[in-house]
Amino acid sequence: METRSTTLLVIGGGPGGYVAAIRAGQLGIATTLVEGDRLGGTCLNVGCIPSKALIHAAGEFEQARAYAQESPLGIHVASPRIELAQTVRWKDGIVARLAGGVAGLLKKSGVQVVGGWARIIDGKTVEVTTGAGQDALRIVCEHMLLAPGSQVVALPAMPFGGKVISSTEALAPKALPKRLVVVGAGYIGLELGTAYRKLGAEVTVVEALDRVLPAYDDELTAPVAASLRRLGVRLHLGCTVQGLNASGDAVRIRDAQGEESALPADQVLVAVGRWPRTAGWGMEGLMLNMNDRAVRIDDQCRTSMRNVWAVGDLTGEPMLAHRAMAQGEMVAEIIAGRRRHFMPSAIPAVCFTDPELVVVGRTPPEAKQAGLDCISAMFPFAANGRAMTLESGDGFVRVVARRDNHAIVGWQAVGQSVSELSAAFSHSIEMGERLEDAAGAIHAHPTLGEAMQEAALRALGRPLHVARA
Ligand SMILES: Cc1cc2nc3c(=O)[nH]c(=O)nc-3n(C[C@H](O)[C@H](O)[C@H](O)COP(=O)(O)OP(=O)(O)OC[C@H]3O[C@@H](n4cnc5c(N)ncnc54)[C@H](O)[C@@H]3O)c2cc1C
Repeated sequence: METRSTTLLVIGGGPGGYVAAIRAGQLGIATTLVEGDRLGGTCLNVGCIPSKALIHAAGEFEQARAYAQESPLGIHVASPRIELAQTVRWKDGIVARLAGGVAGLLKKSGVQVVGGWARIIDGKTVEVTTGAGQDALRIVCEHMLLAPGSQVVALPAMPFGGKVISSTEALAPKALPKRLVVVGAGYIGLELGTAYRKLGAEVTVVEALDRVLPAYDDELTAPVAASLRRLGVRLHLGCTVQGLNASGDAVRIRDAQGEESALPADQVLVAVGRWPRTAGWGMEGLMLNMNDRAVRIDDQCRTSMRNVWAVGDLTGEPMLAHRAMAQGEMVAEIIAGRRRHFMPSAIPAVCFTDPELVVVGRTPPEAKQAGLDCISAMFPFAANGRAMTLESGDGFVRVVARRDNHAIVGWQAVGQSVSELSAAFSHSIEMGERLEDAAGAIHAHPTLGEAMQEAALRALGRPLHVARA
């Protein structure tokens, strides 16, 4: 068996692994990256990027259909139709372009990319099974970075197969199901459920808890729930899934009172979460300290074994691509001898629902739970000129700040295109902004960002574009 040696061995070419490898290569560290499937990982191939592409296409189609009815803008369109195969090809084209970009960047940084599945032998050695008919390869390293990501959680009562699909299959539809049941009202279930509804499917969402996007507070999620109802998505909240019925054409659910019913389904999308990928590739043999299902790391992404590092979904929540990338970049720098710690003031989270939702830092309930005495204020998009010109007066921006020194501890927003406010929110918290700073900075007019300034002004008791309470 051929043996190669390297300074840094990265297992997994998702955003955590490939960013670490690029940065390590830039810093002159001999780096090898092993990827069993496709460069870019979940994020690029079956996660962030394809889902946003599908959401965009579905939104455009819905808009065209709306224009075919009656448009206050005076736009008229005759009988729009969508050719799903072309939509999927377009989405695949974006994925391919980005994946090619990642491969190019790795090459430019001098990273050796090995296609194949890595199996850990010990903390310094892996064996890689490469393509069919080829011999296994042994790679010996000084530093090992574990970045294998996560895998979808299956429901024991309704395993994947046949009409029961995960987000991966939902992102490459061959045909649109007439009736789709989505299990799980977290962000993945709602993003895809909304897209399918806009493409024309009848969509029903089942959620065990009593509201959609249960990770966030009522005030934030109410506009999303209202929009789902407006779109005609049926919600069964507080209901648990029992499995498919005997003929396999309906999902049996039970409500909080124990009443059972059946939801007809041509396809069932199970989106109940993801678990770190900890088994099946020899990682267990390292006997690393764990945090429940995730690998335990310190604030430098070190595991309990010397020179074995872990980043991304393997290390648990929040399982987000930008967290994985930030961790990966930091690990490369530490290995290169720089002093770095992973201590972000906040990690933004975005739900690309309709309307979109952004959470950065603490929400009012979280601030209270943390024992912080905070003030919070929101500014509605109904009073924002730019939102009106976008026909989207729904939603608001909300700020949360300490009562004593006005330091901002949280920003949240719900509304059209508010994902783009996440950068300003993160900067504000990371730079230690106070309400007076946000209120005093000149915000371009007319923009959705003005709602940040107005929320801060309102928290200070001197709003300009809504009446004082
Ligand atoms: C539908 C969907 C939508 C999402 N939307 C968003 C979003 O909008 N924003 C966001 O921030 N996050 C989103 N996520 C989450 C995001 O995709 C993940 O948090 C991110 O991809 C994690 O990066 P990672 O590097 O840890 O792992 P991954 O991206 O999962 O990459 C891990 C890679 O390791 C490879 N691998 C695993 N084991 C081995 C092995 N033994 N040998 C070789 N290779 C191996 C895998 O093939 C994979 O390519 C979404 C996820 C899904 C499923």
